Amino acid sequence: MSEYLMQTYARQPVAFVRGEGAWLYDEHGEKYLDALAGVAVNGLGHAHPRLVRALCEQAGRLIHTSNLYRIPEQERLAQRLCQISGLERAFFCNSGAEANEAAIKIARLHGHNLGIESPAIVVMEQSFHGRTMATLSATGNRKVQAGFEPLVTGFVRVPFGDAEAVEKLAEHHKNIVAVLVEPYQGEGGVNIPERDYLAKLRAICDRNAWLLMLDEVQTGIGRTGKWFAFQHTDILPDVMNLAKGLGSGVPVGCCLARGVAATTFVPGKHGSTFGGGPLACTAALTTLQVMEEDALPAHAETLGAFIRADLAARLEGVSGVQDIRGQGLMIGIELDRPCGELVKQALAEKLLINVTHDSVVRLLPPLVLKREEAALLTEKLAGLIRAFLG
Ligand SMILES: *Cc1c(COP(=O)(O)O)cnc(C)c1O
Repeated sequence: MSEYLMQTYARQPVAFVRGEGAWLYDEHGEKYLDALAGVAVNGLGHAHPRLVRALCEQAGRLIHTSNLYRIPEQERLAQRLCQISGLERAFFCNSGAEANEAAIKIARLHGHNLGIESPAIVVMEQSFHGRTMATLSATGNRKVQAGFEPLVTGFVRVPFGDAEAVEKLAEHHKNIVAVLVEPYQGEGGVNIPERDYLAKLRAICDRNAWLLMLDEVQTGIGRTGKWFAFQHTDILPDVMNLAKGLGSGVPVGCCLARGVAATTFVPGKHGSTFGGGPLACTAALTTLQVMEEDALPAHAETLGAFIRADLAARLEGVSGVQDIRGQGLMIGIELDRPCGELVKQALAEKLLINVTHDSVVRLLPPLVLKREEAALLTEKLAGLIRAFLG
């Protein structure tokens, strides 16, 4: 542990020095199966040769210029993201929180353009949108907010998965301009709403002329079995935010929009020094290209279904396992008790997992995970959970 670091993380006592595919190697040459992928970041796994080559070549040509000039890689990435999402314009930044900040600013500016002086955004309980002041205020977790008051105002909170609660707000809150929601909640415990939830939210937003803004920072880029989680439905959002998996570990965030939301920002209203630079955009373009060529979103769908079914079989009848849920390679195993200790126990077994919302074991493996590796993962994890509950 370094006394020169601010203590923002309770870190595991291990350091990885190299990786390959779904495997990480520590300083002593020990190998670990990575079922977390840097928290849904390393979709292509570690040291993917195509990504390494593209980054080396780009670094040798150009790393940074400025958004004061045209950036061809950024223009190509924006076009590609619009093609695969059905949205119209992109703003690039460097993280998920920043992508959500852009969306929040678009919603507020749009409200002001409509003459609404104090615009409000509907957000959900148990949501997570980031650690900046506006995004932690939008987040539905007191632990994230405590100590940082006064919070940013202008958010109205309702339970996740409850479209009627959103509908009711329309009657009393004339200043609402947008709904910000994760299609499936990640940090909040891998929460999957009813199938028609997004369609209901879409209809409510249409009736009230609100923007539907999806935080797909965790669910986007193939993780749930489609490029974007909303593509499991037939709706289109007005705004969608991406980060985590987009650059395969090179920081890049993106706020995509269509319709009025795509043209709300005009010069001077928003910006980013680093956002959409040549290196980050090359990382994202290569990520999308490899994912498409290797059909990784579809692979995530089938492999995720296999993992959930195999875990359910291996843990059948084990009391203490409340639920096994997820979509694609975003998987949660809810236990009946806090289980943070499992992270340490899995590490000792050379397996990298995560626990969120106190009692939910969360798996976010790389999309390149192979079938044999998935079987090894379920075998090890089922054993660990049995021993933990036993
Ligand atoms: C991780 C996450 C964020 C925050 O992303 P950062 O890159 O850490 O700022 C926002 N929203 C969701 C849904 C996330 O999972």
